[in-house]
Amino acid sequence: MSSFFDTKIEYLKGVGPQKGALINKELNLFTYGEFLQHYPFRYEDRTQFYKIKDVHEDLENVQVIAQIRHVETIGDGRKKRLVAYVYDDTGELELTWFKGIQWVVRKLVKGIPLVFFGKPNRYGRKISIAHPEIEPLTQTAEERSFFQPVYSTTEKLKAKFLDSKGISKIMEGLIPLAYPQIHESLPQSVLERFNLMAKNDAIRQIHFPTSVDLLKRARFRLKFEEFFFVQLRLLHLKLSRTEKSQGQILNQTDLLTKFYKEHLPFELTEAQKRVVRESFADMKSGKQMNRLIQGDVGSGKTMVAFICILIAISSGAQACLMAPTEILANQHYEGLKDYAETMGLNIALLTGSTKKSARKVIHEMLLSGDLHIIIGTHALLEDIVQFKNLGLAIVDEQHRFGVAQRAKLWAKNERYIPHVLVMTATPIPRTLAMTLYGDLDISVIDELPAGRKPIQTVHRYDKDRLKVFGFIRKQVLEGRQVYIVYPLIEESETMDLKNLMDGYESICRAFPEFPVSIVHGDMKPADKDFEMQRFIKAETKIMVATTVIEVGVNVPNASVMVIENAERFGLSQLHQLRGRVGRGAEQSYCILMSKYELSKDSRIRLETMVRTNDGFEIADVDLKLRGPGDLMGTQQSGVADLLIADLSKDAPILTMARDAASILITEDPNLTQPQHAMVLRQVRAQKKHAVNWSRIS
Ligand code: ADP
Ligand code: MG
Repeated sequence: MSSFFDTKIEYLKGVGPQKGALINKELNLFTYGEFLQHYPFRYEDRTQFYKIKDVHEDLENVQVIAQIRHVETIGDGRKKRLVAYVYDDTGELELTWFKGIQWVVRKLVKGIPLVFFGKPNRYGRKISIAHPEIEPLTQTAEERSFFQPVYSTTEKLKAKFLDSKGISKIMEGLIPLAYPQIHESLPQSVLERFNLMAKNDAIRQIHFPTSVDLLKRARFRLKFEEFFFVQLRLLHLKLSRTEKSQGQILNQTDLLTKFYKEHLPFELTEAQKRVVRESFADMKSGKQMNRLIQGDVGSGKTMVAFICILIAISSGAQACLMAPTEILANQHYEGLKDYAETMGLNIALLTGSTKKSARKVIHEMLLSGDLHIIIGTHALLEDIVQFKNLGLAIVDEQHRFGVAQRAKLWAKNERYIPHVLVMTATPIPRTLAMTLYGDLDISVIDELPAGRKPIQTVHRYDKDRLKVFGFIRKQVLEGRQVYIVYPLIEESETMDLKNLMDGYESICRAFPEFPVSIVHGDMKPADKDFEMQRFIKAETKIMVATTVIEVGVNVPNASVMVIENAERFGLSQLHQLRGRVGRGAEQSYCILMSKYELSKDSRIRLETMVRTNDGFEIADVDLKLRGPGDLMGTQQSGVADLLIADLSKDAPILTMARDAASILITEDPNLTQPQHAMVLRQVRAQKKHAVNWSRIS
């Protein structure tokens, strides 16, 4: 069914096919509905009028009411300009136009008050305004829109008179037509509870506000609505999944009890215990678990995962753990193998480099149920990998996996979709988590194991390099190991490699007495692995690398992380890299090297790193600096499609909207009650333009 809002913008009076096509192309707006959502990005204050005597060059745009005394054209050819001398009861002002003279002249009517609006500049002793806007003073103050909307536009549009003013004109034509067509999309109960402005009024006010207060309320209403429908969709997804997907009941704990009694190498932190409780509650609930575990680097996610695995196996199911890279899968395997073996459980590793014969055995043992735990990479997703009874699937470092891949995991058990635990070491602010992972239950490990010494972070300039080298030497002589990381500059891989190689050579020259490893993206996986293993075994003391070591690598003896060109890294990446040290008992250090001249944002990033080790605090700063559009995963998630709401600033509105959506969906899961009809209609209308929210499911 097509509606008023689907009408092509070219059909609007004053637009037409040519301008219409240009608007399509330049602004990517095609219909009335889309055009109405081209919200102003700021407003010009037209509430104030200046007296001419008060107009001076330090003011931004000013507005005066004046009459024409005299108009003349000066010069000719390209230098020709139109000058108007206008006055009010306090003085005289000069106005100048260099273009569109014929058109302007017609508006400069003598004998009536006109409103002029523009930026004053000083020329010698005279104040002049170039190209002011002109309007007759026909409307009374109450009728006028107090704030003039400023719309984003492009050079090509401006050339066709579709500057901000031109767009505003079109909007002025559209709003009265649209107003009666705009239906309320939120239920009365929500409007009342949050004191929200009606939708039609909000749309009108956002374009042509009549007071600051009404503008604020309009913005609030529209932001609320945006968040509300995003949350509604996520909550609906979550609800329908828990309803549809029965979960295998995993409620036995024999192995776990034994493990706690005999083998647990340390006391769990309170946060780990809490997350175990939350996951266990899901696993025994009879509903399928979809839980995200967020925990800063080093917070001990692996142990939580292993405990959940023990619950699954105690209850007669198998478990798998999938990591994004071979190195990581390897490390998980090495880390869990001893635990598993002391518990008498069979565990195996399956990656791209697993030999064919070994593979065959693994496939058979998974099918027969003899293999309890399988750790691996994407290789686990292959169809040939089948289980007797996969009960729990754990995905580490989630952002590297997509939906399709997760769906493949689901299909690995025909009777019950396996319980899913997603672990991520990229702390993200709560607002973003609610939006990106709104359909998952979220557990947070917000505590590090006791006795960890916080990593000391310093910022050093390139000129301090000799001192830094001296420090590295001292650390290595004390038995520690050191990472030195170089950035990847995506534009030029050869430059990167050269950069890295130069670095490697200078390190080898500076430390001829120490064996040095190098690892980068261009190396064959086997070679990379070989070098990694040498470093893990402490055969080499210094590891020169690109960011390939970013994720998850665990070498407790490494206590120094040097990051070269640190100004080129994003905050979350810096934090991830720093997380590679501080895993052992020794004091660890992170040294951020940079050039002297830094942009403001770079400086804030480095200062933040020096100030805090708290991943969530860092994530907050990151969100503020970059906006959500650039953050990991937001592109696909549609967060970037938010038109007016801002995840970094509007957290309170998001919380309210999520509450409202949650109440609604609990009361009326399928939106069948008549008082919710408008919500259903809006959900359906949005589906037509659906972004792919399913990435996160
Ligand atoms: P991450 O959350 O980054 O994956 P890991 O699971 O790799 O962290 O744990 C980091 C280190 O901390 C490991 O060496 C692990 O054995 C240790 N660890 C985990 N939990 C505790 C704890 N409760 N007390 C002491 N050490 C712990
Ligand atoms: Mg980990």
